[in-house]
Order: sequence, then C-alpha cells, then structure tokens
Amino acid sequence: MPILILLLGLLFGSFLNVCIYRLPREEFVFNYPSHCPECKRKLGLLDLIPLLSYIILEGKCRYCEVSISPRYPVVEILTGIVFLTTYMSIGFHPGLIKYLFFFSVLIVVFFIDLDHKIIPNSLVLVILTWGILWQIFWPEIFWVESLSGALLGGGFLLVLAVISRGGMGGGDIKLMFAAGFYLGPFLTSTALFIGFFSGAAVGIALILLKIKKRKDYIPFGPFLSLGIFLAVLWGRDIIDVYLSFIGLH
Ligand SMILES: [Zn+2]
Repeated sequence: MPILILLLGLLFGSFLNVCIYRLPREEFVFNYPSHCPECKRKLGLLDLIPLLSYIILEGKCRYCEVSISPRYPVVEILTGIVFLTTYMSIGFHPGLIKYLFFFSVLIVVFFIDLDHKIIPNSLVLVILTWGILWQIFWPEIFWVESLSGALLGGGFLLVLAVISRGGMGGGDIKLMFAAGFYLGPFLTSTALFIGFFSGAAVGIALILLKIKKRKDYIPFGPFLSLGIFLAVLWGRDIIDVYLSFIGLH
C-alpha cells in the first residue's frame, strides 16, 4: 500500500506541475497533452511518465535537447513524499482523500506564489469549497471550531496587513481564512506560528547569504502552506511539545 500511495503521489505531482505552469498563464489545465516549452513539440505518452522520463532523457527534451527545469521532478518527488507522509500519519481512512486533495492544492499554491508572488483566488475557492463539503458530510470538528479557525486565521493576517500597511498580501489572508476552516482555532495558531517562524528563519538566512536584500519581497504563501501541512498532521504533538517546553504541561 505505501508504494502505491507513493506512485499515486508521483503521478499526481506531474499533473500539479501542469497546474503550476498553466494556471497563472490562464491556460486551460486539462488541455492535454503537454508540449515542450521551447520547441512546442507535443510530448508522447512516454515523456509523461513522472520522474522516470526525466532520468532516462537526462533532463533534456527528446526533440530539441533543451534542458528541462529540475523543478518538474522536484514537484513530483515532493508530492510523492507528501502523499506518503499523509498516509503514514492518518492511515487508510476517508480523511485521507480530504487531505491528499487539500495538500495537493497547497503544493500548487506554494510554487505559484514562489514564482509569481500571487495566490490565485480560484485555488483559495477550491480549498474553501472542499473544506465546507467535508464539514457538511463528514465533519471532524464542530462548526463553531471551523468558523472560529477561519476568522482567526484570516482576521489575524488582516490586522497585520492593516498595521504593516500592505506587508501582508490579500492572498495570504484569504488562504489562511480557508485553511482555518479545516484547522479550528488551536491548529490555526500552530500553522501561523510555524509560518512566521520558518518565514523569518529563511528570510534572515537569505539576507545573511546576500541572496536577498532587506527590502526585497519574500512571498509568505509557501511558509503558510508548510505551516498548514505540519499543523494538520502533527499540530497536536507540536502544541504538546510547546506547552511542556514552557512548563504548562
Ligand atoms: Zn523541446
């Protein structure tokens, strides 16, 4: 079973690559087959096998030999790992479908925000709708928890946006509203905490390494996505460790 989930992740990852590339360009996502971005030759079925085709072709297009970005296999491997850890953490369970889909959309958010510094509204809407459907038909938490999580996540970032006068993007606020709906207030706080902590750590590292300047904009969506993922799978453990660390447990 774990191998099957991993393979499913790799396969899904190759579709997520298509979404990451096409969504910000307003191309239709289901317009298969894909083509090489350089020579526009349509890719055969063999070229669409995730990971393996990249290894066999040594990272080059079969036709024009232009190098293909290592981003593609990276997204595939990442999706495989996310699928596998989600399965290991929640097991074979209806919630597995809920979170595999949710995390897949978060991976797309992660890379689109990284590349284009935007979080498309369509993706936030998909996350929110999916969460509401599960809340109606297969609730894991009470409605009051869902709603307070959403208000806390979106509200906290909205207040920050007002205070910092635009330091926080509208996309981040909407994303955290939608994710808060899944998480409830405690796990939403955990996700925000991880997001700010990892964002600050990476930001400081990039400035120290002189890759970024102090005033450069660093997208926050990838860090929020990471925080949400970790909060869903291990949020309760993280809260326990934190409470015992500050001596409250
Ligand atoms: Zn080509």
